[in-house]
Amino acid sequence: MNDFRADLHCHTTFSDGSLTPPELIALAKKIGLQGLCITDHDTVAAYASAIPAATAAGLLLGAGVEFSCHHCNTAVHILGYDFDLADHNLLAFTRKHQTRRAERNQQILSKLAERAMPLRLEDLNGIEVIGRPHIAQAMLAKGYVTSVQEAFNLYLADGRCCYASGAVFTVEETLSVIQQAGGKAFLAHPHLLQDGRFLRELLKLPFNGIECYYARCSPEKERRFLKIAKSQNLLVSGGSDFHGAVKAQIPLGCSWVDAASFNKIFQRPLCG
Ligand code: AMP
Ligand code: ZN
Ligand code: FE
Ligand code: FE
Repeated sequence: MNDFRADLHCHTTFSDGSLTPPELIALAKKIGLQGLCITDHDTVAAYASAIPAATAAGLLLGAGVEFSCHHCNTAVHILGYDFDLADHNLLAFTRKHQTRRAERNQQILSKLAERAMPLRLEDLNGIEVIGRPHIAQAMLAKGYVTSVQEAFNLYLADGRCCYASGAVFTVEETLSVIQQAGGKAFLAHPHLLQDGRFLRELLKLPFNGIECYYARCSPEKERRFLKIAKSQNLLVSGGSDFHGAVKAQIPLGCSWVDAASFNKIFQRPLCG
């Protein structure tokens, strides 16, 4: 098990990734990963096809999801791991988030239309969870921007003129839903939270762990988060936040955890 690597943060076509679950499993197998967790935004629908694909490929697969919530007016992403995929309360929570998202997407589209950038998302029918990367790609296709990143920098990033957060969910509620479903809640990509004091305050809430390994996160920052995890008795996770062609510069498996970390998080892998 020495060369065990598991990427615990990736997205599929059920949210804003560009690979279907079976395509993602096939890629994970091809690049030699032994474990994987799919963390689509606000949905666990990928697992219906991911579980048979991972079983056939002999890949260890853990249950996962990513929720966006707010703490003191700052957006915080939380990863849920190893919960019961059939938990009614958690499934209801994903539906509430999907409603928030649909309303928020309409607000973003209205703001873009006010700035003479009308868009229709009808072409995206069939995608379970439409996110800002889809809107950015539609803006690029219309020629409103010259790149997806430009769409974020000028219009869509948190706080920009066409951003809308939609209904706000608290960190406390999110942690509780994940934990009540038998899962563990991790703070995602903590390096994106600029303020050290905010991070300390946030970690007073009952998180189970913190995402210490992340694509393009410097080794110094990784060491800082590992130190925080150790001192606060938090579990350690890591992953690439792979989105496929949506973020082509981030390859699957560029960040990962070893067998010891995987086994501490996933007491009940779905297959493998
Ligand atoms: P949403 O869940 O629809 O709010 O979109 C969140 C996704 O948008 C994240 O997972 C990132 O992939 C992407 N994103 C958010 N902010 C930025 C940014 N400033 N630059 C590029 N991508 C971003
Ligand atoms: Zn995403
Ligand atoms: Fe995120
Ligand atoms: Fe993510």
